[in-house]
Amino acid sequence: MSKKYVYLFSEGNATMRELLGGKGANLAEMTNIGLPVPQGFTITTEACTQYYEDGRKINDEIMAEIMEYVAKMEEMNGKKFGDLKNPLLVSVRSGARASMPGMMDTILNLGLNDDVVAAMIAGNPDPNFERFVYDSYRRFIQMFSDVVMEVGKKYFEQLIDAMKEKRGVKLDIELTAADLKELAEQFKAEYKQQIGEDFPSDPKTQLYEAIRAVFRSWDNPRANVYRRDNDIPYSWGTAVNVMPMVFGNLNDNSGTGVAFTRDPATGEKKLMGEFLTNAQGEDVVAGVRTPMPISQMEEKFPQAYADFVKVCDLLEDHYRDMQDMEFTVENGKLYMLQCRSGKRTAQAALKIACDLVDEGMIDEKKAVSMIDPRNLDTLLHPQFDAAVLKKAPAIAKALPASPGAACGKIVFSAEDAKEWKERGEKVVLVRLETSPEDIEGMKASQGILTVRGGMTSHAAVVARGMGKCCVSGCGEINMDEENKKFELAGKTYHEGDFISIDGSTGNIYDGIIPTVDATIGGEFGRVMAWADKYRRLGVRTNADNPHDTEQAVKFGAEGIGLCRTEHMFFEADRIPAIREMICSDTVEQREKALAKLEPMQQGDFEAMYIALEGRPMTVRFLDPPLHEFVPTEEADIEQLAKDMGKSVQDIKNIIASLHEFNPMMGHRGCRLAVTFPEIAAMQTRAVIKAALNVNAAHPDWNIIPEIMIPLVGEVKELKYVKDVVVEVADKLIAEAGSSMKYKVGTMIEIPRAALTADEIAKEADFFSFGTNDLTQMTFGFSRDDAGKFLGAYYDKKIYESDPFARLDQTGVGKLVSMAAKMGRETNPHIHLGICGEHGGDPTSVEFCHKVGLDYVSCSPFRVPIARLAAAQAAIKEG
Ligand code: PEP
Ligand code: MG
Repeated sequence: MSKKYVYLFSEGNATMRELLGGKGANLAEMTNIGLPVPQGFTITTEACTQYYEDGRKINDEIMAEIMEYVAKMEEMNGKKFGDLKNPLLVSVRSGARASMPGMMDTILNLGLNDDVVAAMIAGNPDPNFERFVYDSYRRFIQMFSDVVMEVGKKYFEQLIDAMKEKRGVKLDIELTAADLKELAEQFKAEYKQQIGEDFPSDPKTQLYEAIRAVFRSWDNPRANVYRRDNDIPYSWGTAVNVMPMVFGNLNDNSGTGVAFTRDPATGEKKLMGEFLTNAQGEDVVAGVRTPMPISQMEEKFPQAYADFVKVCDLLEDHYRDMQDMEFTVENGKLYMLQCRSGKRTAQAALKIACDLVDEGMIDEKKAVSMIDPRNLDTLLHPQFDAAVLKKAPAIAKALPASPGAACGKIVFSAEDAKEWKERGEKVVLVRLETSPEDIEGMKASQGILTVRGGMTSHAAVVARGMGKCCVSGCGEINMDEENKKFELAGKTYHEGDFISIDGSTGNIYDGIIPTVDATIGGEFGRVMAWADKYRRLGVRTNADNPHDTEQAVKFGAEGIGLCRTEHMFFEADRIPAIREMICSDTVEQREKALAKLEPMQQGDFEAMYIALEGRPMTVRFLDPPLHEFVPTEEADIEQLAKDMGKSVQDIKNIIASLHEFNPMMGHRGCRLAVTFPEIAAMQTRAVIKAALNVNAAHPDWNIIPEIMIPLVGEVKELKYVKDVVVEVADKLIAEAGSSMKYKVGTMIEIPRAALTADEIAKEADFFSFGTNDLTQMTFGFSRDDAGKFLGAYYDKKIYESDPFARLDQTGVGKLVSMAAKMGRETNPHIHLGICGEHGGDPTSVEFCHKVGLDYVSCSPFRVPIARLAAAQAAIKEG
């Protein structure tokens, strides 16, 4: 039997989302439970996929099936397309598997033409009816032209405005039947002018074009962006729903509305919604008229309102979730046009989940599963005032590198950020890119905006760790850092000008948009406790200072999975010593400089062990290319020369000698320890001594230090550095008369390490997958520059998402799962985790669960997200 591409509403049900889309499946379900739904049909998502496979054409087979269902619909409704007695008018609406509100297209009142219009009017002498018919007709021409033929809306709006002016009226509703008739004529003329052909009068042609337009709208730019932001695969396609029209604009005994069974902003259990008399759905959404609150509908339409309240209770009870519904009242009778699980704020999501559990509607697992982990971000960071945001168009969009909202005066350097902050100003730091030297300035800013850099760039990683808002990679900025100005969206911004950025969306706004602080209520803790009960994966954090560690512990981190020790060297009191270490000529000189760093590093580790209160910490040894530490400013170079008793030229020569063509593949990671083992020895002393001291003060904590060697690609490399660590550690532990244990493991972040994981595992107590570098090296994309060309890859559907933000499960993921398996074969006790930025991304967390890792590690503010995503993965698995 050939594939079935079309289903009557009565042939489907709620479980058929993949095939019928959310809207289609729910229309079918509502039909099945006996709700008043105008009876039509759904064209499947597979038909959409086929449309694209056929080169954006609806093939004859599918078209024939659609026409068969048109005939069925006509019969069921006792109306016919183009019929002069009983004409059928329909709506044509998109409906994907996951709801994508407002992203795709809708056409209403399809089936009207001059003859049908004339016949309808002739059959009903009521002058209001004539007005209704012409109103519907002009709406249809306008929508069809805009959506199907892509003639801009503005032409039609101009004509309406001109008509209103001519008649001296303000509202559309004040236009008479004659005005609307004239407008319909003007619209058709406009259509002909724009398209060069007459407006199509055959309803079946209209239908064919409308269905095609909905399929096409799956690929429109805003839908593509929405999908990327919401993890919706392009391959899903959209279904199309064809439904007989019911008319909310028929007369004053008719109307249309949207409503939620609970408040989507707060979660409170009360019917919320809006209603408009004598209107079609688009009027409510478009805001051309001010709707009335749903409660007032009761006075006007007591019967329809009572019926609607019953439907709401029934739907909530049926779906066991808050419902978002569209409905129409035609001549006092209620019709349901749509229902779905309503979009809600994070706060509302938590409250609704808890309330539903308390009402005995759902169990804890369902409660955990119904919350979108990505939404939790909004609870943990400041957000823009939603009312102001609605009216503020974004001037640009770049990468949403670290969530939260920030508004402040523009500054161009880290020093300025600090200085202005001390003066009591709120600032946004705008830079070409950030470097480790900017950390203090980043801390002093409300948010950070960079021209360059991807989702794992310095700015992104550091801001995320701080819980600070960051938008990165805004290539549209034309930057002049030296003169403290930049151009964006046709405007020149100077130091002190206001800018607002949203790190959750990547949007950038001109001027001031006020922010509101984050609030975490009791429901948050309740849901998180349920999540912890059901997850198998451990959740650690990436942190390198006591403050971030404490923050992460508050958010439920079970330890540190990655302490990037280099971040501890950039503080103002440490950088001179590390620079001295780098510019040393001999081992002795280097050891002298390292000796200065050792007590500071040990102190940091002690403070972090204390903040962790006995939870484990993986300390990663020095990783970045050394040139990142050397001074660039003349004054700093002079100071270093003075400190080291060298000439300025000597220092400059050393700096020049550190230059590398590919620093990310250069002298970094364990290669530093292979060339300068004294660095690894110093870091070992600092970790082991810190742990010995803290264990002595808190014997019950029983800290077992975990030392992690980065960027290993060959087992002998790991063995060499491990031997240095073991020699130093064993000696210190013996001297202290302690029996403290410790672990030495490695990061798997070079493809060769993954490919030889069985060998490497023999020398490692643990693996931590460094998926930032592993992604960089597997794709061969620079993690800092890929943003420059990824846009073209998205447009061409080569990649659907940023592999630095969402783990590429096909390629990089294959290396991860393979290495995990091989590692366990030669070392069954090996502990496996991930510490790349993917550790806080919900779909990547699910992947880590599936391939059997022991834990994920992510920045502090993503810990709750990871806990929830880990629980969802476990629950989904069953
Ligand atoms: C990684 O490469 O995934 C990693 C965590 O290390 P870094 O980001 O510090 O290179
Ligand atoms: Mg790395």
